[in-house]
Order: sequence, then C-alpha cells, then structure tokens
Amino acid sequence: MEERHCIRCGEPIPDGSEYCPTCGAALDGTPYDRTADFYRNKAGWKKEDTLESIPRLMMLYGILAVLAGVVAFAAYGMLDGNWAELADENGLFYGLTLDQTSTAVMFIGVFILLSGLCALVSGFMTGKRENYRLSLVLCIAASVLPLFMALGVVDAVLFGIILCVIGLYVTNRIRENGQCFAS
Ligand SMILES: [Zn+2]
Repeated sequence: MEERHCIRCGEPIPDGSEYCPTCGAALDGTPYDRTADFYRNKAGWKKEDTLESIPRLMMLYGILAVLAGVVAFAAYGMLDGNWAELADENGLFYGLTLDQTSTAVMFIGVFILLSGLCALVSGFMTGKRENYRLSLVLCIAASVLPLFMALGVVDAVLFGIILCVIGLYVTNRIRENGQCFAS
C-alpha cells in the first residue's frame, strides 16, 4: 500500500489518521485550525513547547523560598535572646513590639516556605512534562501563598503581590503548554 504524505509539509501520514501528525494540517492541506484539536491529538500532533527555562526558574525560586523560610524560623528562634540589642530605647524594632515581630517572622517563614515547596514540586514535574493538573494547582498555590505573609506584617503585602503576579504568569505559561504534558 502506498504511503500517504501531507500535501502541506510533505511528512508521512499514518493510516487511519485524518490529520498530519507533524504540522496538524488536514489531508487536503487545510492549515492548523484550533477547532480540530481533538482530531489532532488523536493523530499524536503536538504544538511546539514554549516553556523554555521556566521549570528551572520555578525550582530556583522554590529553593530560595525554602531557604528564606528556614532563615525566618532560625530568626524566630533567636529573637527572644537578641531582642534587647535589636530594640530601640522604647523596646520597639521597626516600630513593632517583640510579640508583633515574632508573629510577623513566623507568618512570613511559614508562607514563603510553603510557597517554595509548591514551586519546587511544580517546577520539577513541569520540567518532566508530567502531571499537568497537579503542576498547575501547585503553581497557583505557590503564587497565592505569599499573599498570606501580610497576615504577619502588612508591609509584606507588596512583596506578596509581586510574587503572586509572577506566579500567575508562570501558571499561565504552563496552561498554554498543557498539551505538551505526558499526563
Ligand atoms: Zn503536514
């Protein structure tokens, strides 16, 4: 039996396939049409992957955020002993009492650590193009968690919003490449 070739890109088309697995064109050469995604996926066609270095940057952020969390926990543990040196003559550190500072450091530590862990796992799976839905959910979690740092100290809200915006941009990049994931 004669092998069929795509009239658009010239690559071979497997028997029974209605679309070119290389360029996604229909058998008559009609170019890629978004509404026909279902048939293209059946033909094994995949759009170009545009994630580039994003998974590695996610893991880098994850490692840095986990380290920041660990540093915050260490600082929390040392606050009591060093408070007298840190505080001014009114017993305040950047306008906060010892209790307020402890709470702020604790909240910042917990939420940056959790965000980092989510980003680390999501970045690892995205790098392997596996577990699309879990990667997406963890990336959203990594984006939203920094906002909760503001529960400890309101000044952290700007930093949280910046991290959240970057995180949601990365989430959208994963979403755009969803068809490149194996599962
Ligand atoms: Zn083709």
